Amino acid sequence: MSKYAVVKQLHVDEEGNGGASSGWYAHSGEERNQRPAPTMRLETASENEPDEFESYDPAFEALVREMIERLGEDPEREGLVRTPMRVAKSMDFLTSGYRTTVDEVLNDAIFDEDIDDMVLVKDIEFYSMCEHHMLPFYGKAHVAYIPNGKIIGLSKLARIVDVFARRLQVQERLTGQVAEALVDLLEPKGVAVVTNASHFCMMMRGVQKQGSTTTTAAFRGSFKVDESLRQQFLDMIKG
Ligand SMILES: [Zn+2]
Repeated sequence: MSKYAVVKQLHVDEEGNGGASSGWYAHSGEERNQRPAPTMRLETASENEPDEFESYDPAFEALVREMIERLGEDPEREGLVRTPMRVAKSMDFLTSGYRTTVDEVLNDAIFDEDIDDMVLVKDIEFYSMCEHHMLPFYGKAHVAYIPNGKIIGLSKLARIVDVFARRLQVQERLTGQVAEALVDLLEPKGVAVVTNASHFCMMMRGVQKQGSTTTTAAFRGSFKVDESLRQQFLDMIKG
């Protein structure tokens, strides 16, 4: 059990949702197919028609506008007038995991390799949203597996975490889904996933415990039955 890989800070914003330039982005491929395509219209900016005519997903924007109103705010005031569009766009990205499959992000990056030592990628940054309050929770995921003839591109582990993080989640399920995805993909000898996260729904409201973090773990195969292997993994992610 000597050979392992440790890669830190692999989080990549691969979707390229900058929104910086024109504010538009298009998903490549079919990842939009599973939801009604938002009517995207950008009524070409003539000088007289400022960009409040921009729209990303009119139905969603109408909901956000109503929410703003119900909060007692004026959706027409300058700072808020484009907010529904921004929120629609942002929510689309933050829930893009619903329209992305593990196979898509994997892009065939599975290789035959005859090693059976632990592979660990730790400190994979992730951002998700709790399904109870739709508030963010974020933290680090540590993902390890013992290959059984197949290995996966290391950066793909981070992408798999994102597929499941960009949904409405509970941390426990997120952790388990990442583990199950690896079991399905690689049929490895074992999988271990630990996530450590801070939940805004605990920090900003409710018990208002800013310092607390939540850790959940999923062990499969050899990590489940072999206590010393599990301990080795836990020692390795400690630092
Ligand atoms: Zn919550």
